[in-house]
Amino acid sequence: MKSALRDFSISALASIFIAALPPSFFQFIHLGKAFGFKELSNIIVNNTFLVSWILLLVIILVIRKLIRNKIDKMQAPVPMFFAFTSHYDANDDIDFYGFKWKVFMNANRTSSYTNDISGVSVDRVDGPYCKNDYREMKESRTYFGRYKYKCPKCGYKNTLFKNSWTLESDIKDEIEAQYRKQTRVK
Ligand SMILES: [Zn+2]
Repeated sequence: MKSALRDFSISALASIFIAALPPSFFQFIHLGKAFGFKELSNIIVNNTFLVSWILLLVIILVIRKLIRNKIDKMQAPVPMFFAFTSHYDANDDIDFYGFKWKVFMNANRTSSYTNDISGVSVDRVDGPYCKNDYREMKESRTYFGRYKYKCPKCGYKNTLFKNSWTLESDIKDEIEAQYRKQTRVK
């Protein structure tokens, strides 16, 4: 909501500035004349204030695009297919990134004939839930593309560079790594 408002105010500002441009600014376009360097520099000199505002807006939009692209690249890829498992050997409640999570795990057996466990695979991660009341956090993006999580009940907020799918993948990897370390044969 807040970022939508910000988007709106920026585009509103842009249109106000364009509306405030003197008619001389548009004459060239209307006449379809060759746009000479002299005319262009005249426009810039006569409208320094407007031109610098427009430049500033363009710079903000470019920076926003760059930051968003960088944040997008930090996210774990979402797989095309999900494996659905209905049975889990164990589940656990954990705290991670300032949230509560529920993880469902299955033991990896060395073979189906033995009970030797070589590790676990985390097959499902539910969350993020609010650390105060376990309500599901609502996810949205900020103007520059970070991920904002907010509890609908108590208003607990947390802003991170990662979306919830990436957080889930991190948790899966972290837990599996712990067990991998524990069961490692020296
Ligand atoms: Zn809450």
